[in-house]
Formats: sequence, structure tokens, C-alpha cells
Amino acid sequence: MKEKLIMTPGPTAIPPEVLVKMSDSFMHPSIDHEFLEIYKQTTQRLQQIMHTKEDVLILNGEGILGLEAACASLIEPGDSVLVISNGIFGAGFADFATMYGGKVSLYEVNDREPIDVHALKNFLDHNHDFAVATMVHCETPSGLVNPIDEICPLLKSYGIVTIVDSVSAIGGIEVYTDKWQIDILLGGSQKCLSAPSGLTFLSLSQAAKEKIQKRNHPIIGFYANLTIWDDWYEKKKFPYTQPVNEIKALNEAAKRVLDDPDVYARHHREAQKVRTALSELKLELYPKSGFSDTVTAFKVPDGYDDTTLRQYLLDEEGIMLAGSLGYLQGKVIRIGHMGYHCYSEKVDRVIEALANYLKARTNS
Ligand SMILES: *Cc1c(COP(=O)(O)O)cnc(C)c1O
Repeated sequence: MKEKLIMTPGPTAIPPEVLVKMSDSFMHPSIDHEFLEIYKQTTQRLQQIMHTKEDVLILNGEGILGLEAACASLIEPGDSVLVISNGIFGAGFADFATMYGGKVSLYEVNDREPIDVHALKNFLDHNHDFAVATMVHCETPSGLVNPIDEICPLLKSYGIVTIVDSVSAIGGIEVYTDKWQIDILLGGSQKCLSAPSGLTFLSLSQAAKEKIQKRNHPIIGFYANLTIWDDWYEKKKFPYTQPVNEIKALNEAAKRVLDDPDVYARHHREAQKVRTALSELKLELYPKSGFSDTVTAFKVPDGYDDTTLRQYLLDEEGIMLAGSLGYLQGKVIRIGHMGYHCYSEKVDRVIEALANYLKARTNS
């Protein structure tokens, strides 16, 4: 039996130097100020990865908590919210925005192409009365990346506050939060950083803070309320008990990214290798352009079955790939070449296994 290789687009496998932090000896999260400093260092490392001088908060929940907290804190009843979507996570923002009283306008475009900035600009020329806009950087279910570097400055020119889900890109695709004028950029521990799942982090711009301060309605709930984090470092006080070992693991994972000068180039190289190999195997990539460097989605070929194919790879080759979600389930298979998965020997094993499977099927 070959060594098991998990190649899903998150949660990812965890490198040993990160995983070992989970068994560090006990440290009191609120009384021991050494932990406060470790926590601070973690936020600083995330700031460096996200290229931002703004505050970065780490919330104790999986990626979805970040998405919800951004909407809960920023959106108040009656706010008009532009939900820009070309995928499952993009459309999902409409639910959160509605839940917190936003009046949603859904700008929905083709899910196989990146958002066309020119078309969006034409739309905004006539409709720009929005308080908040949401979008997704990397649509993980379809392996598509959107040009947030152009979209966010465009929205900012209309004074619209932006929320960007970059959960499956941060650490694998370089992001420039301040330069791209993103108000809230969201990340997760379990994708390209390859830390244990259970933490989400976000940057908070001055404009986002002002919008929160000027609210007419109080923020509903506590856990998703970002203001409970105000001055945590100065007050030496967390709003609730922190998971010490998860934070230590995230800190180490962030260090790994920062210490790796090849990290983004490698993601690009390995992703291109996967795309070229799949094309040679006559497998059709789901996106027509805007391919992600962190996850590749390809269509289940005619005559093949998603579950059978993946089960075969798992049983015979020890390789775990992912199907997809929602309307793409059963239609698309995904290879996660992000974070700890993004090394040529791992990627090569996946390509070889897929080639073997297709060849065996053709010959039988
Ligand atoms: C993984 C991911 C999240 C976090 O959500 P889960 O589906 O619960 O893992 C949010 N947004 C995107 C784009 C993601 O890839």
C-alpha cells in the first residue's frame, strides 16, 4: 500500500513542525502574558502575509465564522449590499448579508470566467449606491480566481466598503490588502497556511472600523461582533478564552510561509504543471480562464463517475482528491495543490495516478 496522500483543497495536511505545536505544554491563555505576545506575533505575521498595516484579528472558529462576523459587524439593517458572485461562496454571501438586515443586490456572472472588471464598471456607472460589497478571491469549488486587485479599488472609488473572502488563497496567492484597498480580507487556518482548522483571521481597514462605529443599530450577537476585540492587546484581555495550541500552530504556519521565498512561485509552477498535465490527459478544466494557483477543478469526463474515480485513487494509489459542492457535486473533481500539498513530488504522484487510472480504464 502506498503512503496515503491527501490532496484536497482544504483542510490540508499539516507539516510536522506545525502539528507538533498542538502538543506544546499547557500555557494559561489569559493570565500568562507570554501568550499575549505569541498571539500578537501571530497577528503581525499574518499582517506581513496579507501586506497590511491595519489590524488583523484572529477569531476562534472555522472560515465561515470570519465571513459571518464580517457581515454581522459591517452590515446593518437597511444597508444596500452588492453581492458580486460567480460561484458558490460568492452567492453564499447573499444569505449572510440578508440575515443581518442588508438589502441585497446580486450581481451574478458566469461561473467559468473571472469577474469581468469592465462589465462591472459599466454596471457601477449606473448603480453604485451601495454601502458594502462582497466577493470571493478564490472560488474553491470551481478553482477560479477573481481580479480583486482591480475590483476593490473600483468599488472604493464609489466609497463602497469591501469584504473579500480569500480563505483559499492567502498563503498560496500573494495578496496586497492595503494596496488593493480591501476593507476586510478574510482567511482561514486550514487552507494554504496548512495549520489545523478552527481559526479564521481578517484585516480591518479604517473605513471598515468607521462604518462599524457609526452604526445606528447595535451589532446582533456577541461571537460574530468584531468590536469585542477592541484594544485587546492594550487591555491585555481577550474577549473569551483562547485556544493556545491552535494559535501557536497558526503562528508557526505563518512563519513557514514568511520564511519560504519560493512559496508563491512554487504555487504558480505546480498549478501550471497540473493544468498542463490534465490537458494532456484530455481532462477539461472547469474554469475557462482565471485558473487558481491553489486548487484545480476538472470536469468528470463523460462515461466516468466522480465517486468511483476518487475511490479508486484512494484505494489503489492512496491519494485523496475532493469532489465539489452544490451544483458542481458529481460534475467536478478537485486537486488541492495548496500549502503543504504544493510540492512537486506530491503533485507528480497525483498526475501519475490519474494517468494510470485513465489508461487502465481505456485498456479494459
Ligand atoms: C474553505 C472555504 C471557506 C470556509 O468554509 P468551509 O466550507 O466550512 O471550509 C470559506 N470560503 C472559501 C472560499 C473557502 O474555500
